[in-house]
Amino acid sequence: MNLDQILQLVNQVTQTTVTEEAPRVDQEAKWPEESIRAMQRNGLAGLVVSREAGGMGQGLYALARTCETIGGVSASTALCFGMHCVGTAVIGAKATPQQQKDFLEPIAAGEHLTTLALSEPGSGSHFYFPQTQLLVEPDEQYLIRGSKTFVTNGGKADSYVVSTMGVEPDATLHEFSCVVMEKDRHGLEWGPEWKGLGMRGNSSRSLTLNDVRVPSQNLLGARGDQLWYIFQVVAPFFLTAMSGTYLGIAQAAFDNVRQHLMDRTHRHSGMSLSQLALLQHRVGTLWANIERTRRLIYHATEQADLGDPGAVLPILSAKAEVANCAVDVVNEAMTLAGGIAYRDNSRLDVLLRDARAAHVMAPTTDLLYTWLGRALLDQPILDS
Ligand SMILES: Cc1cc2nc3c(=O)[nH]c(=O)nc-3n(C[C@H](O)[C@H](O)[C@H](O)COP(=O)(O)OP(=O)(O)OC[C@H]3O[C@@H](n4cnc5c(N)ncnc54)[C@H](O)[C@@H]3O)c2cc1C
Repeated sequence: MNLDQILQLVNQVTQTTVTEEAPRVDQEAKWPEESIRAMQRNGLAGLVVSREAGGMGQGLYALARTCETIGGVSASTALCFGMHCVGTAVIGAKATPQQQKDFLEPIAAGEHLTTLALSEPGSGSHFYFPQTQLLVEPDEQYLIRGSKTFVTNGGKADSYVVSTMGVEPDATLHEFSCVVMEKDRHGLEWGPEWKGLGMRGNSSRSLTLNDVRVPSQNLLGARGDQLWYIFQVVAPFFLTAMSGTYLGIAQAAFDNVRQHLMDRTHRHSGMSLSQLALLQHRVGTLWANIERTRRLIYHATEQADLGDPGAVLPILSAKAEVANCAVDVVNEAMTLAGGIAYRDNSRLDVLLRDARAAHVMAPTTDLLYTWLGRALLDQPILDS
């Protein structure tokens, strides 16, 4: 299947199952089971799995486009799917033959869902400074001890990509390791159900790791190459899944308010809101904001897919820019749509609540601009 065909398929699943389930995902804070299963049935869960392992062999651009399409209908569903793809990419970056067989092939076959468990209560948005410990045990085993927060797909995935501190006794904070952990490992203790302001279907739960044992073959990549993992895999995929999702939110808000301005006519003047110059100007501004953000996201992801090292800054800035874009556009759309939009569970209400997560999901907007500045000033990016 080529990219156009894949995007058509994404659109088809989004217009049917995702659209049908979306209201319940938000109103009932329901994890999007039916939508995720539909994505799996259609082979889309293998979007970023290599063709060799049975997947679609796509990269960041396809991920951005997919999350954008789904995010325009259900942002929670897009993030649940996106976090699965990020976890998949982290597993796939340096998968051993055994990991390919145990994880990537089942993922591509739609039989296995994974996700990311990086954030911790201790280090918050600094997800690259985990304090979860990875202790080396006899018999080629690791013992994992610590706490994670906001694990999207928490309790629903078949495996969790977990970040830990470096394994060597003298490891610095930057030398984190990732392991993949199957859902039924002894010692996984889930916190309460997720109750978010927005992104209500995410099942972003906390997780305590009570001396969970995993075999050393579940280590992803080699020890010591974890900084590579952050900038080559975790950050680009994580940022792209979010960028696409929030772009979808901005576009959905725009479409909604554009339609409203064309439909609403005042009786006293007989004028449609679409005929008022001030509103025309503001709609033009909104469109330009979305379009320049879209161009940045598409350009950054295409550049990264080509392996251009210069893509790092555009990828970082894309998520910061889309966070501003989504929040600003939805906010403005809410004003333009007037009191009619300012009601419980209006489409713009849902989009506004979902968009607000953009700034606080790591790397946060403030941290991203700081990282950009550091990179441009030749300073180490990952300074605490
Ligand atoms: C809906 C949702 C889904 C999520 N899904 C996942 C997931 O799937 N996997 C996962 O691992 N995590 C996930 N997260 C967690 C997320 O990525 C962040 O780690 C989390 O939101 C950080 O929250 P905090 O309150 O600990 O932030 P804090 O770290 O306490 O930050 C609070 C504020 O301070 C600012 N700040 C902190 N340090 C600095 C600094 N040095 N300089 C400038 N400003 C700073 C931040 O930018 C932020 O604005 C999710 C979060 C949400 C809300």
